[in-house]
Amino acid sequence: MNPASTSPGSELPARIRKDPAALHPPPHLRDPAATAARFVWDDARALVDGLPDGGGLNIAHEAVDRHLRHGRGDRTALRWIGKSGERRAFTYAELAAASNRFASALAGLGVQPGERVFVLMGRLPELYVAMLGALKARCAVTPLFSAFGPEPIATRCAMGDARVLVTTPELYQRKVAGLRERLPGLRHVVLVGDAPADGPGLRRWGELVDTASADYRIGPTDPEMPSLLHFTSGTTGRPKGAVHVHQAVLAHAASGRFALDLHDDDIYWCTADPGWVTGTSYGLIAPLVCGVTSVVVEAEFDAATWYDVLERERISVWYTAPTAIRMMMKLGTGPLAGRDLSSLRFLASVGEPLNPEAVVWGQQAFGLPFHDNWWQTETGGIMIANVPALDIKPGSMGRPLPGITAAIATRDGAGHVHLIDDPGVEGELVLKTPWPSMMRDYLDEHARYQKCFSEGWYFTGDLARRDDEGYYWFVGRADDVIKTSGHLIGPFEVESALLEHPAVAEAGVIGIPDPTAGEVVKAFVALKPGFEGSEALRRELLGHARKRLGAAVAPKAIDFRANLPKTRSGKIMRRLLKARELGLPEGDLSTLESDER
Ligand code: ATP
Ligand code: MG
Repeated sequence: MNPASTSPGSELPARIRKDPAALHPPPHLRDPAATAARFVWDDARALVDGLPDGGGLNIAHEAVDRHLRHGRGDRTALRWIGKSGERRAFTYAELAAASNRFASALAGLGVQPGERVFVLMGRLPELYVAMLGALKARCAVTPLFSAFGPEPIATRCAMGDARVLVTTPELYQRKVAGLRERLPGLRHVVLVGDAPADGPGLRRWGELVDTASADYRIGPTDPEMPSLLHFTSGTTGRPKGAVHVHQAVLAHAASGRFALDLHDDDIYWCTADPGWVTGTSYGLIAPLVCGVTSVVVEAEFDAATWYDVLERERISVWYTAPTAIRMMMKLGTGPLAGRDLSSLRFLASVGEPLNPEAVVWGQQAFGLPFHDNWWQTETGGIMIANVPALDIKPGSMGRPLPGITAAIATRDGAGHVHLIDDPGVEGELVLKTPWPSMMRDYLDEHARYQKCFSEGWYFTGDLARRDDEGYYWFVGRADDVIKTSGHLIGPFEVESALLEHPAVAEAGVIGIPDPTAGEVVKAFVALKPGFEGSEALRRELLGHARKRLGAAVAPKAIDFRANLPKTRSGKIMRRLLKARELGLPEGDLSTLESDER
């Protein structure tokens, strides 16, 4: 791998070359274009078994039980590292038994297939066991962030008609108990842990699950049966509840191999919480379906802890997110000195645009670039990716995976789709329907769901462009794009340029209404340690941006912030920067994480 040329006006390489023949193990996707040309979704059926006796397709069977049938029951499926360093490991056989017990327990409680099970807890092993058990019981599962406050929990449980909630006594007392009367449908609350708790329908995990049968036969599961109900991150507004089905496992099985290149003996770490779809699709389902060892870390981000995990657990494939990468970049490569991270072989990132600076920093810090990929709660799985065998163009999301047809398009007032074939032209990123992990509805918002589709295309709400080699470049969310003096500006481009300045740790860019230009670009910047937000630095950054972007695109104003507001899944909430700047209502803040102004 060696940088070839640099992009204009920047020191960053425009291309990081890959030699597929030099990769070990050989990537699943050796020739991405050739595979994409011949792949059909029926091919993915070879990656799963299906339930015995033609019983259909169940995610938990494919993730866990299937491995026992193939003699892989003794392999470690989950390796859990607790906050104070304690460890627990589950082989596939142990995970099969534990999830069977929870499925049996649900049946014992009279919970019916199709009913909804919500899970609210930190990244404890029981979270994963409960999700798998509920899937076996053919209940639809919704994992919630444990850091949610009472209101977002109650709203989501009510919207999703939660019948069962699995949580801890502490979270129950603090966040749920006071709102129980708003949740008449919530019949059972299963508490993981020892602390006492009183309330209607309360059961202890230990009593309920440990005594339940480890023999459980998954009932017939229609591939179209709902499996997961996942709420979006709430970056652009009130979170939507995307309904997914068991058949999605075909996409997880394929993308786990194609995009994350998971091989049998990989030790894999996805840093996302299952409260965000990445932590479910790629923190639980895809790695287990691919039969690897998946590491779960209970603690929240801390660079030293994370580097300890990478080194001690001998992580080979690491899937993380831009915010975390930027936090690591903020500290420089110093904390990595003397560590042995030779086990790492593939680094991937998702959730937000990955600034070119961050892609390249991966090489400095870990000897490997980060591979950006793109998808949404709605798509259920990775759609566009930088795969191991493909040259990386830093700043690009990569190319559509086999089975996925992407395009750039516009939609006219009558709902007709106009595909834009010319490379380099911006438009909405659209995906040809169907694919197995596509959402099947928005909970309680069917009309909104239908509006996402026209003439066989799914409209993602993201603007992008495709280059002449078929790489996709994220421009911005349709809601965030700035229109200034006849130009369309994507915040990502401006943020990436600011991030190239050594003082900048994070940047969020918005449009401010302006009587002459329509909108002007304004940036909010958080600085790296050791830098002060002085007037001189402001001028320097404005100058740096003008040099990189030209006067039309560069920000006209820059404000310094200690932190930028982010969702719990780590996305910069530009809508909140804007609302605060303009004194407008702040909207739904249920997923807001850091709130330092
Ligand atoms: P909401 O829909 O509630 O506003 P959200 O869109 O942030 O929240 P998610 O489904 O978690 O909820 O995130 C998907 C979105 O994240 C994508 O539509 C895109 O805007 C952004 N995204 C994800 N991956 C990438 C990427 N690699 N590059 C650029 N943007 C990305
Ligand atoms: Mg979205």
